[in-house]
Amino acid sequence: MTTLYELEGSLYINVTNKCPCACVFCIRNNGDTIRESGSLWFEETEPTAGDIKTEFKNWDLTKFSSIVFCGYGEPLERLDVVCDVAKYIRTITNLPIRINTNGLSDLIHGREHTALELKGLVDAVSISLNAPDAMSYQKVTNSCYGEKSFDAMLKFAAECKTVVDKVTFTVVDVISKADIERCQKIADDMGIPLRVREYVGQY
Ligand code: SF4
Repeated sequence: MTTLYELEGSLYINVTNKCPCACVFCIRNNGDTIRESGSLWFEETEPTAGDIKTEFKNWDLTKFSSIVFCGYGEPLERLDVVCDVAKYIRTITNLPIRINTNGLSDLIHGREHTALELKGLVDAVSISLNAPDAMSYQKVTNSCYGEKSFDAMLKFAAECKTVVDKVTFTVVDVISKADIERCQKIADDMGIPLRVREYVGQY
């Protein structure tokens, strides 16, 4: 099982395969690896925070520009593990730490304000905006929480902004140009930069 892997100059942490969504563009639909990562599917158990910390000892961190919690799933499904490991990373390197998330952590954990739990632990959070309204968001993500997911994601993003230095929205260019423009308006109104990602079917 692969917990740490290298991608484009960053060290990625695969925390979980769980995810409440089934996005139409998810790379998990097309394979089980990212470049030379080895399989990112966990067969039986997922790694503990201790397992991940131990695995860090096998990597030379001086070759990376950042560390990213990404998953082959939604990393904040395991919010406690992410927080624990992020605290540990702070003790071994000054590299910036980012979380790539769908922003549905409050719904996943059934409690409010989970974004605030990231305070002081990470430098950046990249949140999948995905679509400009609840109905089209649901069509893209197939979230198990239904259309309330869109507002929950926006609230998570707004709260992240109060505790994390760099918050970014992303959309994948599988949606129309008109929808990307509407996403840009939402991002501008919230004061959060938007990055339009090219669809990548497989690494
Ligand atoms: S949120 Fe991420 S991991 Fe989950 S289905 Fe969508 S793209 Fe895949």
